[in-house]
Amino acid sequence: MQLPKTEYDAIVVGSGPNGLAAAITLQQAGLSVLVVEAKDTIGGGLRSAELTLPHFVHDVCSAIHPLAAGSPFFKTLPLQQHGLKFIHPTIAAAHPFDDGGAAALHQPMEQTAQALGEDEQSYLKLIKPVVNDWPQIAADVLGPLHIPKHPLAMARFGLKALTPATYLSKRFRSKEAKGLWGGMAAHSLQPLSNAATSAIGLVLMATGHVEGWPIPKGGSNAIAHALASYFIALGGVIETNFYVRSLSQLPAAHAILFDVTPRQLLQIAGHKLSSLYKWQLERYRYGMGVFKIDWALDEPIPFTALECRQAGTVHLGNTLEEIVASERSIAEGKHPEKPFVLLAQQSLFDPSRAPQGKHTAWAYCHVPNGSQADMTDRIEKQVERFAPGFRKKILGRHVMNTAQIEAYNPNYIGGDINGGSIDLGQLFTRPALRLSPYRTSAKGMYICSSSTPPGGGVHGMCGYHAAIRALKDVFKTK
Ligand SMILES: Cc1cc2nc3c(=O)[nH]c(=O)nc-3n(C[C@H](O)[C@H](O)[C@H](O)COP(=O)(O)OP(=O)(O)OC[C@H]3O[C@@H](n4cnc5c(N)ncnc54)[C@H](O)[C@@H]3O)c2cc1C
Repeated sequence: MQLPKTEYDAIVVGSGPNGLAAAITLQQAGLSVLVVEAKDTIGGGLRSAELTLPHFVHDVCSAIHPLAAGSPFFKTLPLQQHGLKFIHPTIAAAHPFDDGGAAALHQPMEQTAQALGEDEQSYLKLIKPVVNDWPQIAADVLGPLHIPKHPLAMARFGLKALTPATYLSKRFRSKEAKGLWGGMAAHSLQPLSNAATSAIGLVLMATGHVEGWPIPKGGSNAIAHALASYFIALGGVIETNFYVRSLSQLPAAHAILFDVTPRQLLQIAGHKLSSLYKWQLERYRYGMGVFKIDWALDEPIPFTALECRQAGTVHLGNTLEEIVASERSIAEGKHPEKPFVLLAQQSLFDPSRAPQGKHTAWAYCHVPNGSQADMTDRIEKQVERFAPGFRKKILGRHVMNTAQIEAYNPNYIGGDINGGSIDLGQLFTRPALRLSPYRTSAKGMYICSSSTPPGGGVHGMCGYHAAIRALKDVFKTK
């Protein structure tokens, strides 16, 4: 297959949320933009498919969307008019314990705090300032390192965010508050004693209170479809089924934005890059991988704790100590017997995901990068532990190890879903130490994937910021 020979102002390689956000930003500026996607459908981490049985719709990658709902860029787009509808589960996230009880992240902050009993005030002291400041700091937190618009509010956030999650956990006394916090911070895919692991915990809890943790009606692909539909309505062009392996395959353009990670950028355009920039990209590190399962179920998961039956997301890790041990052992290259499992149950709130009366569930656990281990049994044991009888409800399952995840999406190197490690060594230098993280060393070439700030998750802010950079540099607008 060949791409059209037409000349474009800009080309975006890859149609994940960041690629589409970049393409929209450029097209909105009046440019002609082509998006080129390797796979036969658009969306990157935003696809949904019948992975198990007919009429059971599963989110292949991302499922829960506090970051999309709270994205400062997506909020400016008419995505509802292009078919996107967010559904809010009764409870955003629940966290069960061996004694049959559970902690929960409710959208109302006070309800969450109250349910934590003796830790009510500690919870409010930690989260309330972030929630209150969120409207001022969201754009800075979800952007590149720069002088913030609200330095005091940002400093308040930064001081907490940069500490290890295990350190902040000392503010709590109950196993419920500690466990809930540990489950949130474990989204950082790092040992929780690492610096800055509190950042993601704070962001997920604050956005949970401000935006909720919604799911898109019909599947995560509804976000990609809405973005693409708006882009096309603006005059944009998308070509799928075209794996870009070399710059020579692309039509002429003044700017090229790559929704790929450093390793792929080196393969596609390495010969155009300076030796210093190449040296930095070659040293870029990828983080933990994930092992993913989707289930078709005869009935909802029979969780013991009521909160879990009403939650869109359930964190299965029991106590903070267990979660800390699980994440530490993965960082040491091991596969824990009781992995921390992130589980979503979309069909409870969106009947369009499964035939009447039937259900879907989605789960993954962290594993060492590149692991080929089959974690099915260990993940299912963790679900069964908090929902006895779960296995009897399984009608079908689909699993992906890290190699299968990478084959599905070339950006998930070794199963890393964040586009590279976000530990302290890389936090401020993703993907390379530069004045603008989006600019490569080659004129007119930019990187716009989750390997750039603010990093992983469906928010489109990497793509938006990269496109703004290209508009300033190449097209002298903005
Ligand atoms: C199992 C799993 C669960 C997740 N859960 C969540 C969640 O619940 N919430 C959340 O916010 N995030 C979640 N994420 C993370 C989220 O999906 C990613 O952070 C996000 O999709 C990154 O967006 P992106 O645009 O940078 O890249 P991607 O979404 O990875 O898109 C990159 C696109 O570029 C294409 N591409 C790559 N190389 C080429 C090439 N050479 N030529 C042409 N096209 C190319 C790929 O095919 C792909 O379509 C999850 C990810 C996974 C895998």
